[in-house]
Amino acid sequence: MTRKWGPAAMFAPKGIGLNRQCNNAWQGSSEQLAATTPSATRLSGRRPQGNFMQVHGSCHCGDISYEATVDPRKTSICHCSDCQKLTGTAYRVTVQANEGTFRLLAGQPSVYVKIGGSGARRAQAFCPNCGSSLYVHDADEPRIYGLRVGCIEERAALIPRIQVWSRSALGWTENLADIERRETT
Ligand SMILES: [Zn+2]
Ligand SMILES: [Zn+2]
Repeated sequence: MTRKWGPAAMFAPKGIGLNRQCNNAWQGSSEQLAATTPSATRLSGRRPQGNFMQVHGSCHCGDISYEATVDPRKTSICHCSDCQKLTGTAYRVTVQANEGTFRLLAGQPSVYVKIGGSGARRAQAFCPNCGSSLYVHDADEPRIYGLRVGCIEERAALIPRIQVWSRSALGWTENLADIERRETT
């Protein structure tokens, strides 16, 4: 499928330093996967089926939706400074879609191409209307999709197994339990 990219989206920012970006790709080892046991069922009521859990994603305004299958164990947190900027918050949570399973169902995301530390061109897809971050893939070879977990309906079942770029993590993220917690505002 040929995907049109949104206007003014096909450029890379200048002046981004090397060695501070992630590829938002799963980097854990297979041993890490084997050593972990999904505990997501308790939270979501949905039972992840082995390595293939169906997920449904959509942006805030609802213009864009997609589906894919994921291995819930390939959920990660990235603390890199690019993810902090691109999300406007402290860190990003991403799950890798199983290859060949991503399907765009509605809408047309815009794409911002970020140059990774390795020189890889990473296409960051977002909704041109509401700005929700949706997914990332290699700009030249869109094979592996990293799905932004906040836009996934089944997100409660996607529990991160690894944190990367922790050297740029904001210190307070190490201990959220110490921060006062309210049910609503
Ligand atoms: Zn939207
Ligand atoms: Zn990152």
